[in-house]
Amino acid sequence: MARIVVIGGGFGGLASAARLAKLGHEVTLLEANTRLGGALGYVEQDGFRWDAGPSSTLLPAVIRDFFRKSGRPAEKEIDLVPVQPVQQHRFDDDTVLDMPGGSRADQLAAVDGALGPGAGERWTRYVDDFAEVWEVLRKDFFERPWSPDHVSKQAQGLLDSRLTLHKMLAKEFKDDRLRLLASHAARFEGHDPRNVPAWVGVWSYVEQNFGSWTVPGGMGQLAEVLAERLRTRGVTVITGCPATDLVVENERVVAVRTTSGDHPADHVVVAIDPRRLPALAKHVERTMPVIPPVTCYLGVSGEVPDLPAEVVLHGDPTIVLRTGGTAPDGAHAWTLFGRGQIAEDLVTALARRGIRIREQVEVRIEKSPVDLVTEWNGSPQGVLWQGRGTLKHRLGTVSPIAGVYLAGAHTTPGAGLPSVGMSAALVAQVIGPAG
Ligand SMILES: Cc1cc2nc3c(=O)[nH]c(=O)nc-3n(C[C@H](O)[C@H](O)[C@H](O)COP(=O)(O)OP(=O)(O)OC[C@H]3O[C@@H](n4cnc5c(N)ncnc54)[C@H](O)[C@@H]3O)c2cc1C
Repeated sequence: MARIVVIGGGFGGLASAARLAKLGHEVTLLEANTRLGGALGYVEQDGFRWDAGPSSTLLPAVIRDFFRKSGRPAEKEIDLVPVQPVQQHRFDDDTVLDMPGGSRADQLAAVDGALGPGAGERWTRYVDDFAEVWEVLRKDFFERPWSPDHVSKQAQGLLDSRLTLHKMLAKEFKDDRLRLLASHAARFEGHDPRNVPAWVGVWSYVEQNFGSWTVPGGMGQLAEVLAERLRTRGVTVITGCPATDLVVENERVVAVRTTSGDHPADHVVVAIDPRRLPALAKHVERTMPVIPPVTCYLGVSGEVPDLPAEVVLHGDPTIVLRTGGTAPDGAHAWTLFGRGQIAEDLVTALARRGIRIREQVEVRIEKSPVDLVTEWNGSPQGVLWQGRGTLKHRLGTVSPIAGVYLAGAHTTPGAGLPSVGMSAALVAQVIGPAG
């Protein structure tokens, strides 16, 4: 049995800690805030409750696998239901596309219906091309700690390719709306498609094939269930305890330094931005964190337009409206995220795009990107793509310091709940069961 200290109690840290405890290790989790969950959790005020960050997830198999491997099956713990449509896209020519998830045929029909005959065919042909990419990356990148030593030629070719998402979409589509559709996820996550490798488009394939899923009542429940799982697995959880550095002796980690003393460790899982720990910072000095979006949680009273869970208003700024928060009777909990040039108040910008609720806003909580990074002690959206080299500049599952591993949004395979969940599975795979 090894003594393992996990730094960070976001989804990455929680999932790593539960998996490692189930493998028989003695696990301690350190969280800087008083609350676990990181970006996964709620914002609450005056009877309104919003998901603070994630409100849905692609690839529910990652969550199911986590529950199976750490104790009880997901069905016994949490309700996962599909989101349909996954998003409503509104373009500046007034086209509205309700994009279904989990079905190629439904996407073909919806895109054809909204963007004109032939558009559905062009969209599905584009997504079909990722079937092989998915198979290759699943085996060598998502489900196995990526290393130049064992990676297949095909996977290496994909990961090394100079082709960017922007270039691929410029070649693939004449219709700007299809380009916006295909690049939306990357842009919403804060990246410039000119710096994003083309293979990242594989998430369109994942959404088409496996759909998007949520937890009724809020994705934040997942953090509560995970915290409970740590209790059952006997993980020692210390909140209000920021790690300040790693203690390294003879090139091997021996402890985690915190503001209240050292925690001895045989292994350490870093599930935070490694730039925040001086011992690791020099290994990631060429990376930059993604800046979170401008965010506004709204409590809205009275009649509102009937909208799906997520509406994307393309333009500059691009506004993403999420409608699924819980609210008192007759009211609604909405969240607005803004990306791009934000020259005016998001509610005003929303009104200009045809959704007028300004007079009905009862509660309003505004968060700047700086507020969010300060609250979450880092960016939950991980490392900014700066070209294909970013993969080499960020750290993978195994760090250069013996005994130190990485999980969470800042390591491989990346940000977003599916990738972060996979990063925890990779850490557990590398450390393995207690001997
Ligand atoms: C606005 C927004 C919307 C999003 N929407 C979605 C979505 O709908 N679907 C989706 O899949 N993904 C979404 N994401 C991305 C997803 O939420 C994140 O990628 C994921 O939650 C990151 O988990 P994490 O554990 O890596 O990091 P975090 O959630 O950032 O957790 C890190 C934790 O570590 C703690 N910590 C930091 N430094 C220290 C330290 N020195 N010592 C101890 N503890 C420390 C922090 O306090 C925090 O609790 C969204 C992100 C944002 C910001």
